[in-house]
Amino acid sequence: MQLGVGTDPSNPWILQEKEFNSRHLGKFEAVMCQGNGYMGVRAATEEHYVGEHRDMLIAGTFDKFDGEVNELPNLPDVTEIKIEINGQLLDLNQGEVSDYRRIIDLKSGLLTRSFTWTIAEHAYRLKFERLVSMANRHLIVSRVTITPLDGQAIVKVQSGIDGQQTNSGSQHLVDGDKRLFDGEFMQMLTSTNESKINMAMTTCHKFKTADGHAIKQHMEIGRRQVFFNFTDTIAAQATLQFVKYSTLVTDRDNDFQGQDLAALQEFGLTQLKTACAESFDEQLAATTAAWQQSVWDYGKLQIESSDMDDQVALNFARYQLAISTPVHDHRMNIGAKGLTGEGYKGHTFWDTEIFMLPYYIFTKPEVAKSLIEYRYLGLAGAHRKSQDNKYAGAQFPWEAAWPSDGESTPVWGAADIITGRAMKIWSGFIEQHITSDVAYGAMEYVNATGDDQFALDKVYEIILDAARFWASRLEYNETADRYEINDVIGPDEYKEHINNNAFTNYTAQWTLQTAIDLYEALKTNEPKKFAELNQKLDLDKYYQLWQAQVDKIYLLQPNADGVIPENDTYLSLKTIDLSKYKTAEHVGGIFNDYNLDQISKIQVTKQADVLLLLYLFEQKFAAQEKRINWDYYEPRTTHDSSLSLSTHAVLASDLKMTDKAYELFQRACQIDIGPDMASSNDGTHSASLGGIWNAVVFGFGGVRLLGETLRIEPHLPEAWTNLSFEIFWQQQRLQITVDKSRLTVKALDATAPVSFEHRGKQYRLSGNESAIIDL
Ligand code: BGC
Ligand code: BGC
Repeated sequence: MQLGVGTDPSNPWILQEKEFNSRHLGKFEAVMCQGNGYMGVRAATEEHYVGEHRDMLIAGTFDKFDGEVNELPNLPDVTEIKIEINGQLLDLNQGEVSDYRRIIDLKSGLLTRSFTWTIAEHAYRLKFERLVSMANRHLIVSRVTITPLDGQAIVKVQSGIDGQQTNSGSQHLVDGDKRLFDGEFMQMLTSTNESKINMAMTTCHKFKTADGHAIKQHMEIGRRQVFFNFTDTIAAQATLQFVKYSTLVTDRDNDFQGQDLAALQEFGLTQLKTACAESFDEQLAATTAAWQQSVWDYGKLQIESSDMDDQVALNFARYQLAISTPVHDHRMNIGAKGLTGEGYKGHTFWDTEIFMLPYYIFTKPEVAKSLIEYRYLGLAGAHRKSQDNKYAGAQFPWEAAWPSDGESTPVWGAADIITGRAMKIWSGFIEQHITSDVAYGAMEYVNATGDDQFALDKVYEIILDAARFWASRLEYNETADRYEINDVIGPDEYKEHINNNAFTNYTAQWTLQTAIDLYEALKTNEPKKFAELNQKLDLDKYYQLWQAQVDKIYLLQPNADGVIPENDTYLSLKTIDLSKYKTAEHVGGIFNDYNLDQISKIQVTKQADVLLLLYLFEQKFAAQEKRINWDYYEPRTTHDSSLSLSTHAVLASDLKMTDKAYELFQRACQIDIGPDMASSNDGTHSASLGGIWNAVVFGFGGVRLLGETLRIEPHLPEAWTNLSFEIFWQQQRLQITVDKSRLTVKALDATAPVSFEHRGKQYRLSGNESAIIDL
């Protein structure tokens, strides 16, 4: 696979940069970003460069700046360390750099950068190591090692907390108190402007000199800054090493028990004192163990391929999902760019339900549950949105921030190339399929886990409330005697204000039908819960309405050639030659030639739309129908959204176009680590990272949730000799191993019998039984 990031043939957990290039800062900051779901810290270098983005974000700390929509504020920076050696400020654009390596070890999350820097005729070896702890979510630790190679060096260091960060110019934070405790712990307080979240950043240094002499630090306070300065003289070949420990805490944290600012200060300080009693190596051991126990022990996945980078891409995808998923707090969800950059402002989209939730449902269901819980908490905001639009029920926001915020999509975007005016972003108003997507994701969780309690507590209510929205949203067309959904945006965002998007209509119909089934089942089997929900949601009334509507919702039917129209007008639009855009180095190239209005009039699709429908509701559509629609839509799809390739990869696998599936899978893997050195500047693509896992497990692994049935029908690509992975199914663990001739499904300590289907045949396993099936 062609990559823009180096790998290591002997270790599939390594990504590396082999040569420093200050034009590629964004790529490495994002793909080597560190985090633990609480915070994300881009891998910006200790020294500054023009074009860097030193983002440090904490999940859930949304704030509004000056009338803009909510976003995650970029926090005071603790990763910067200014180093001057013999009067030369460390800057890799000066002097000569050799033996350079920057490495992220995906297994432990350790980031290391080392090089020899030769300047003014002297050479110095420097090494920087950094970790964002998985064992203590508030903690960042850096270790710096400096060795003059050919003469003594006077080293001056400035290191502390720099609160001059902004979100590309928007300043969310109020300058707060700065203090020194016990002569060695410095603390900066700050709070968000509008949401008034208090935060404390605390930092300290521990030194190790060759002969054990002490180093004295002097505190310096600047505007929004607080630093320590220190100087040391290092003999040739001797080493100065120091470790910088920093903690970040906020009064929104669910592990902060205190009431006031003084308690928050104390919380941050105590965390820091405890952390710095342990060495860097001890902290590294702790975080490595935590990664193993909380991430890698779940959903183990191994690929034997002639291209080793396939495994690296999977390790990378899982690493990135782990650093960006706020597993610690169900008031938070995964951002479209995780915690790896300012792109999409930290907001949550349908990306979670359709592209990432499956990964968690099948590998760590408790995380999936927490992500659904977030939507349950979001019902208040969803009610507000539907009321504002004069609808009923829960209309989920296209972009979501803090659960009660409701709609958070910005209203104005980039300039139109023809008119030069800012374009109105319509997705927050009319991209309405999100409400069905949320319901669909929640139901998938219930079907896969059998978690009836959570279904009763939260999931059914989400679905019933979503169906109330659709009932109020459907438009009756008297002439045709059918219900339509007009003036929407479907998954293909290149078509705005269209009528009857197939994906939107089918998923709305699914939501209504599911609500009808739930109504009936609850009324019979759970009368108490039914009575409670009936009172809250007026179910008796809606049940009548749903029944009258459900069979009259307009489901777009295939034309004479078997093509399901994407919407009412798509098939009558003109076609143009798209090859230039389909093979371009960067996505979105079509906007250099056409504006959105013009694109709306062309048969061009941004991302899987009809094809996504065929994938999600696979039992409803025959293989032949899928093939016809694939042949029609794939050539018209530019894959300009990162959500597109992985869906196409799964579908190509289903259609037994395994070579094509493999090509698309590799292209999906390249979205972040591939040769486009600018693709991840604003952050990595969370949905695509989930999609990579989907392409492997649902595509090549052939795993599919069909209602309440688990189906496993793998098709390995030519390059792979073996694929093995673990999934959770109905609270049991299965290990699935596929090679060219055999599928082995093994139950792992099953406490109840577990069933699956292969080519129409049922299998049932208990204990540690295996089913071995010839392919
Ligand atoms: C996306 C929309 C999003 C908007 C504003 C666009 O690039 O395609 O889905 O709502 O940005 O964040
Ligand atoms: C896509 C949306 C997606 C959003 C966030 C947009 O470009 O079109 O489907 O939800 O990005 O990833």
